[in-house]
Amino acid sequence: MSLQTLDKEQLNVFQRTQQVIGVALKNLGYGQEMQELLKEPLRLLTVRIPVRMDNGSVKVFTGYRAQHNDAVGPTKGGIRFHPEVTEEEVKALSIWMSIKCGITGLPYGGGKGGIQCDPRSMSFRELERLSRGYVRAISQLVGPTKDIPAPDVFTNSQVMAWMMDEYSRIREFDSPGFITGKPLVLGGSAGRESSTAKGVTIVMREAANMAGISIEGARVIIQGFGNAGSFLAKFLYDAGAKVVGISDAYGALYDADGLEIYDLLDKRDSFGTVTNLFNNRITNRELLVQECDILVPAAIENQITEENASSIKARILVEAANGPTTLKATEILTQRGVLIVPDVLASAGGVIVSYFEWVQNNQGYYWSEEEVEEKLEKILISSFSNVYRTAEQKGIDMRLSAYMVGLRRMAEAVKWRGWV
Ligand code: GLU
Repeated sequence: MSLQTLDKEQLNVFQRTQQVIGVALKNLGYGQEMQELLKEPLRLLTVRIPVRMDNGSVKVFTGYRAQHNDAVGPTKGGIRFHPEVTEEEVKALSIWMSIKCGITGLPYGGGKGGIQCDPRSMSFRELERLSRGYVRAISQLVGPTKDIPAPDVFTNSQVMAWMMDEYSRIREFDSPGFITGKPLVLGGSAGRESSTAKGVTIVMREAANMAGISIEGARVIIQGFGNAGSFLAKFLYDAGAKVVGISDAYGALYDADGLEIYDLLDKRDSFGTVTNLFNNRITNRELLVQECDILVPAAIENQITEENASSIKARILVEAANGPTTLKATEILTQRGVLIVPDVLASAGGVIVSYFEWVQNNQGYYWSEEEVEEKLEKILISSFSNVYRTAEQKGIDMRLSAYMVGLRRMAEAVKWRGWV
């Protein structure tokens, strides 16, 4: 069975994920019961977090933590702070984390958290109170051997530091392994901050080899200039690629001769905003269909859809964001011969180095950046090759292949435990 038979475009990210899971498990030979178990998170906690704002008033925020499945090991995944966070999105994101961990062979299931808020309009102290309040609200559910959070959209090492401190106070012992993406002095790992982008460059290079494109001189468009997008622009620029387009939430810049990436990195604020300083802005929608060899959506969900998939010029699509492409768009791009490196593979660098951070915290022994990068590269090269080979062998698209590779171990663990 392939994804082509599904009516996909109308679905939200969660329903879309459930559809692909159903097909992937069927292709792996599993029946209805396994699908029933894996199509929803095992646990979902909704919390209300009262926060004293700087002006003295109290604002109550809604947050979530979803744990998809812990048959393989503790659950793992980031926490996002964003005004559009929803329960459905957090559930989908937790399942994607399971698949990332499955593809890369990490001993985890997937988890995810989110708070509906706009950190761009909150002060430093308000963010601290919100971060600590969230940890107090979910503390029963999480822990270094249960569920290990990390950064995601609009959260960073400072937020991780507050959360680790709050958790350690509640438990009354130092608990660095409770959360990853911490600052180095609090048990963070060398190379964690740039690890998502590093991972993207590794799988991009593998995909480019397959497509007969050289990264040196390749024209690349990156949508989004946050943690992943900005480090990626720097790495690609340093590697001799021509970064012809970048964007943020407010617009995009495109220059067929290549952008001055270091200048843009200098001007960028901590939320990745930079395009508002320029008059020659185009829209994000316009950026996606400009001339390029490689397109990297590194922002938010649902950017490449049935409407624009036929107009995309890239030969390779590397999904650094979670869920940027709909299933219908995947089908159109695959038919047009565009090589897709799906999100659950392309963006796995972050959680891989988070795993290294957790291992180092558990051992109390810390590795060099070279050691981290070498291990990251090894895992991603073999993960890419597994997904690519499975797609070729079974004659399926890269997304379905990634789901099949990613779910295989979890389904086996569920069987061994006797849950299904
Ligand atoms: N939030 C990142 C992701 O979506 C990293 C998760 C982690 O490090 O646990 O993959």
